[in-house]
Amino acid sequence: MILNGVELNKEYVRRGKKFNAVKDAEFFAWSGDFTLIYGESGSGKSTLLSILAGVGDLASGSVELDGQPLFSLSDEELSYLRNKRIGYVPQGVSALSNFTVVENIRLGADLYDSNVDGEWLQEILENLSIAHLVDEYPANLSGGELRRVAIARALVNKPDLIIADEPTSNLDEDNSLKVFSLLNRLAKKGTAVIVATHDRNALKYGDRIYHMKAGVLAPESHEYGDL
Ligand code: ADP
Ligand code: MG
Repeated sequence: MILNGVELNKEYVRRGKKFNAVKDAEFFAWSGDFTLIYGESGSGKSTLLSILAGVGDLASGSVELDGQPLFSLSDEELSYLRNKRIGYVPQGVSALSNFTVVENIRLGADLYDSNVDGEWLQEILENLSIAHLVDEYPANLSGGELRRVAIARALVNKPDLIIADEPTSNLDEDNSLKVFSLLNRLAKKGTAVIVATHDRNALKYGDRIYHMKAGVLAPESHEYGDL
């Protein structure tokens, strides 16, 4: 599986002036690699990831999954694809308050009648140290716990492609490492993993690292001493 972003541009308007939150970005990610997008806050990472996940819109350019342009698909086809093949962890908190943790995690899969592999679900919950929270409601969870619920939700369908936006925000060092090593293991098993972060702990997991600054995406060498 190859995800390819071609000449991606996204404009926003601020104080009446247009600016490029993502500027002429060329991006590749593929099965078996942990691809890291590293950059400070405001550099355009979330904007870029939402585009790559087929959620955000584009001023110009295209996103291709195995050569198929995402934005040429109908809404229905795109949401089917997102549900079956892409695990997206958006920035921030997205749990639905009237559903328990396990219901939140299964929600997308259940909507699409996907069979959830119970053993796999249990493995994710244990890896993320949230197995004891399955019957809780989101209001009773900490920010870091909710973050891990969002990650579990993205992984439950065994997606080919994982796109995670600051997956370790709100997490302490120990839990951050758990998340990165889980994502790294999934990459080593053949998943395409894309993570955007400003967390330096992630740098050692990136098989390939892009650096993002003021909307400009640059591939970095594996030596990240100058970041
Ligand atoms: P990051 O994820 O790296 O922190 P973002 O992609 O969230 O960066 O934001 C990139 C830039 O675009 C920032 O300057 C941000 O303030 C701006 N921005 C994000 N969303 C919007 C929006 N809806 N309207 C206008 N500007 C936005
Ligand atoms: Mg962001």
